[in-house]
Parts: sequence; C-alpha cells; structure tokens
Amino acid sequence: MAPMLADMPHVVIVGAGFGGLEAAKALRHAPVEMTVIDRVNHHCFQPLLYQVATAALSPADIAWPIRSILSTQKNTRVVMADVTAIDTDAKELRTDRTAPFRYDFLVIATGVTHSYFGHDEWAPYAPGLKRIEDATEIRRRLLRAFEAAEVSEDAAERRRLMNFIVVGGGPTGVELAGACAEVARYVLSRDFRRIDPRTSRILLIEAGPRILPTFPQDLARYAHRTLERMGVEVFTATAVSDCDETGVGTADGRRFEGATIVWAAGVMASPAAQWLGAAHDKAGRIAVAPDLKVEGADNVYAIGDVARVARPDGRPLPGIAPTAKQMGRYVGRAIAARVAGRPAPGPFRYRHYGDLATIGRRAAIVSIGRFRLRGFLGWLFWSIIHIYFLIGTRHRLMVAFEWLWDYLTFQRGARLITDYMPPPLSVTSDQKSVTRGSGH
Ligand SMILES: Cc1cc2nc3c(=O)[nH]c(=O)nc-3n(C[C@H](O)[C@H](O)[C@H](O)COP(=O)(O)OP(=O)(O)OC[C@H]3O[C@@H](n4cnc5c(N)ncnc54)[C@H](O)[C@@H]3O)c2cc1C
Repeated sequence: MAPMLADMPHVVIVGAGFGGLEAAKALRHAPVEMTVIDRVNHHCFQPLLYQVATAALSPADIAWPIRSILSTQKNTRVVMADVTAIDTDAKELRTDRTAPFRYDFLVIATGVTHSYFGHDEWAPYAPGLKRIEDATEIRRRLLRAFEAAEVSEDAAERRRLMNFIVVGGGPTGVELAGACAEVARYVLSRDFRRIDPRTSRILLIEAGPRILPTFPQDLARYAHRTLERMGVEVFTATAVSDCDETGVGTADGRRFEGATIVWAAGVMASPAAQWLGAAHDKAGRIAVAPDLKVEGADNVYAIGDVARVARPDGRPLPGIAPTAKQMGRYVGRAIAARVAGRPAPGPFRYRHYGDLATIGRRAAIVSIGRFRLRGFLGWLFWSIIHIYFLIGTRHRLMVAFEWLWDYLTFQRGARLITDYMPPPLSVTSDQKSVTRGSGH
C-alpha cells in the first residue's frame, strides 16, 4: 500500500486500545506518517464492559469509532484489518485484507485474550469478557436464562437456569458477580410472574486462597463480605477442572450446575510474539527491553498488555489501562525523538497510581498508596474516575445519567435480547400459501 508522504518515516501502530491510541496521540505533531491498524473499527473502554454484559449500559456508551478519535490527526490513517504476520527483515507487515505495509517504526499494542489454561474446548460454554461482542453475548445468555426459566415446567431445569457462575475472583469476576446479583435481586425482581429472580444463585469461584489478590487484604476481605451480603456465594481455593453446558466441576470433586457461565480467570497475549519470533513468557507476552523495544528488532516496540516488562522484584507490570497508556506515551515520545535526531529518553518508568474495583451500587474499594476508601465513598470515587476517563462529553453525560437513573429507579435500559431470528419462510406448493417454520 503506497505511503501518504513518501519522504517521511512511516510509523505503523497495531491495535487501537489504550496503548496504541496513546502512542498515536503522542506522535500527532511529529514529522511522520502514521497508520493505525485495528481488526475492529472501535476503541473499547474495557473497564465498563461488565456493565454492558449486565445490561446497565449499551455498547455505544463505552466504544468509539477509532476513525473519529483520530480524525483531527492529519498525519494519521486508520485501517481496519487483522494483522496476520510480520517480517522484521523486510520491515513489512501482512494483514488479512490489504497489501503488505512497509514500516520504519512498528508499535505492537494488540492486547490479550482469555486463557482457558489449555482447555479451549470450554470457550463455547463459558465466554470471557474482553470485547463488545463478548459483553453482548453474556448479556444475551443472562437474560435468556431468565426467559427460559419463566416458561420451564421442570423444577430442576428452572433452578439450573437461574444459577449463574463466574469463574475467577479478580476485579472483573467480582464486578460481574456483584452486577449479576443486583440484576437478579433488584432489576428483574418485579418483572416475572412464574419465577422469582431473587431466588437465583450467583456463584463466584476462585482458585486462589482469596479474591482480589492484587488488592490489600483488608479491602479484599471487605469485598468478599459485601458480595456475600448481596447474595453471591464465594468459593475460594476452588479450581475449576471441568466445564460444559450444564455447569462446572472442580478439582476437589464438587459440581456446580448453572446455565450461564462467565470466564474471568486467565489471559493469553495475542500471538504477536509468534509473528516476531520474539522471546515471551508463559502467557505469550513479548519480553521487551527497558526502552520497550523488542529484543533484536531496533525499530519494533511492544506496549500494553501484550508486553512483559519485569519490575526490579521480577514481577511483571500490572495489565491495566494506565500501564498501557504510559507505555504508549513513552514510545510515542521515543520515536519522535529518534526521528528528530534527539537522544532517546531514558528507560521506561511505570508509575502506579492505585487500584479500584466496584462490587455493586454503593460499594467499591479504592487503594492508592496508603489512601484507602470503601463502601459508598469508594463507589462515588470509582464512578467519578470512570466517567472522567470516558472519551467525549456526550459519553460522560450519557453514562452519568444512566448510572443516576439506575441508582434512583433500579431500572436498566439495555435489557435487550437482540439475536432473535424468525424461522425461515417456506412456500408449500399444494397450499400455495406462505408459512413460517417447519410444521405449523
Ligand atoms: C473486562 C475488563 C475490565 C477491566 N477493568 C479495568 C479497570 O477497571 N481498570 C484498568 O486500569 N484496567 C482494566 N482492564 C484492563 C485494561 O482494559 C487493559 O489493561 C488495557 O485495555 C490494555 O490496553 P492495550 O492497548 O494493551 O490492549 P487493548 O486495549 O486490549 O487493545 C488491543 C487492540 O488491539 C486490537 N487487535 C488485537 N489483535 C489484532 C490484530 N491481529 N490485528 C489488528 N488489531 C488487533 C484489538 O482489536 C484492540 O483494539 C480491564 C480489562 C477487561 C477485559
């Protein structure tokens, strides 16, 4: 594909998540031409995906067209394509639907996906939550389970349909379990006639000794107690060893029946390390040098969740949005310096601002250094921070309004099951009439 301005260095950024977008913004005034490639046409605010999955927000509240975010950057072109291979010797990148791209600098920011710890066959029964499509699929399963329970004549089947299992007690699992409990206890409680949604069981299953392992112990204990008060059954030290359409089995021989299972237990990096033939850790994250360059490829950087930067104590940096954004900003500045012939900045330094997780309406935990918040104040803080980080005033106002409305009325506007397909139309020659479906 022909470059836009042939005499300028060409920077290709793969992935328009938190890291990739920040790198692109940092290069907006640099004398480079830039191509941002993403397999989807939108940037997704993943921290609020669980709210789409539990019908509090609509997909468009938390996603923005990449083209429109970068529309004012005159040096930037956006391409929707799936990157499939990289040839670092030829400095060329291949996609599923375009001619190859040549690059002078390459930034890999392709993030992670779910890991089923070697059991990919569980994926159809227990979707993970990483993309908008995952969130709408979980929402569909959640709402359909209640609809099916309402018309089921079989008591055991009704119980199974009203059991919801979340695997993984990190922030995503905790947020999902809390939100499912609220949907069952408050949002749907008056809407059904034959079933009582308040009798649903929400199970949170965690393999480790406690939920929220990255949070201070006292806040994790508070979250555990709060979930239980909300009606969530929390099982720690319980490893899932089996998963099918009827529920999950655990390593200690127990069985939990449930029709809706959500996987929030592990991550696996996108296959970028394989494209590059680069060193990587067990989760597939590319091992990068302190200046975020991929070892052995001077003009290739990896940032965000797909990169592994070891801290002095050997632990990797946390896979959260601020890490990806800081890396993106750093790499943008490093490339701008190199293009301008200035010395590159020193090694990348990560600054950890803190950890936040919400458990439900009126309950969240916040840990920023020695500053701790919990309960309603934590929830207010969490809400303000998340609204602040959304893109654009319209989205901020819309989400703030949805939350206020939900808070005051217990109503959730996005309770839509949108996958209904009418049975195919068929014409029978003897009747010469149009009928729907097979026998009726
Ligand atoms: C449910 C959930 C909740 C979270 N909550 C929080 C939170 O509360 N706070 C927090 O700080 N962090 C949170 N995170 C983590 C945070 O969202 C990630 O750390 C962050 O998104 C990483 O940014 P990234 O740029 O590395 O990757 P991503 O934001 O994942 O972006 C990767 C991009 O690459 C694109 N891509 C992937 N492969 C290809 C390919 N082959 N070709 C083209 N494009 C490709 C994808 O479409 C995507 O747009 C959460 C994550 C999830 C999933």
